[in-house]
Amino acid sequence: MNLDGVVKFFAPKGMYISDSIRATASEQLTVTDVMTALGMTQADAGIGLAMYLGKAGISQQDREAAISWLAAYAKEKAPFAVRRLAGKKFPLCMRILAKFAYNDYASSAADTVDCPKCHGKGIIEKAVTMEKSHYTMRLPQFAKDLGQSPSDFEVKRIIEDTEHCLCSRCGGKGKISKRCQCGGTGKTLDRKATDFQGIPVYKDCKRCEGRGFTRPKSSVAYRGIFSLLPSLPDRTWRYSWKPFYESLVTKCFEEESYTDRQLKRVTGSQSLNDFS
Ligand SMILES: [Zn+2]
Ligand SMILES: [Zn+2]
Repeated sequence: MNLDGVVKFFAPKGMYISDSIRATASEQLTVTDVMTALGMTQADAGIGLAMYLGKAGISQQDREAAISWLAAYAKEKAPFAVRRLAGKKFPLCMRILAKFAYNDYASSAADTVDCPKCHGKGIIEKAVTMEKSHYTMRLPQFAKDLGQSPSDFEVKRIIEDTEHCLCSRCGGKGKISKRCQCGGTGKTLDRKATDFQGIPVYKDCKRCEGRGFTRPKSSVAYRGIFSLLPSLPDRTWRYSWKPFYESLVTKCFEEESYTDRQLKRVTGSQSLNDFS
């Protein structure tokens, strides 16, 4: 069993889960087995589990715990340049970094963001000018006699109005999916290699680096920190803060894979190769 198995366990249908597709009845794990496994895992790799459960949306509590843990980790590991610049606001800054880093780790292709074009409203207001006209009076008899037409009494004016139209970017939904243009698979066709080998060859999508969705930009974290430290220059962010921020995101993935390995170990793996 791995972390995905744990998620299935928490889902209502997952009373019995198996470790592998080849599983026969005897290999099926019972609830007790899983609880034991989780207990064992928690002692050894608790935070990765909390991170994963928080990410899967199962436990808000675990999510909070993961962020607190990450904040403490950040406080411990922060480079001197970051520590010095943050000054008294250092603990708060680390908390904010941890929160953004965790959200970065936990974001998925299913997430949506507010459409930047319409700011989540789905409707765009367009200023339009139009010309309207009216007649000052009904065409009087003398004018008719003189051969004049109603248009000689027409007054034109330009008015400004706002037109509401559906946002073209999100089609009126107000949300856009984070799914990458590669369809969320994280793979794109490698045209060169495909032509060369004559069979379809796929490579990691460059746009999303194989994740299948666009990551939240680190500039979001920058803005969060910037509101606390208005004197933080963009350069300093890029040179000392951003790499540190990225390392926090990486840490989350590391903890997750560590837990995954531990979980496989305590629940029994299919092959000895999984022991590491
Ligand atoms: Zn929109
Ligand atoms: Zn992609």
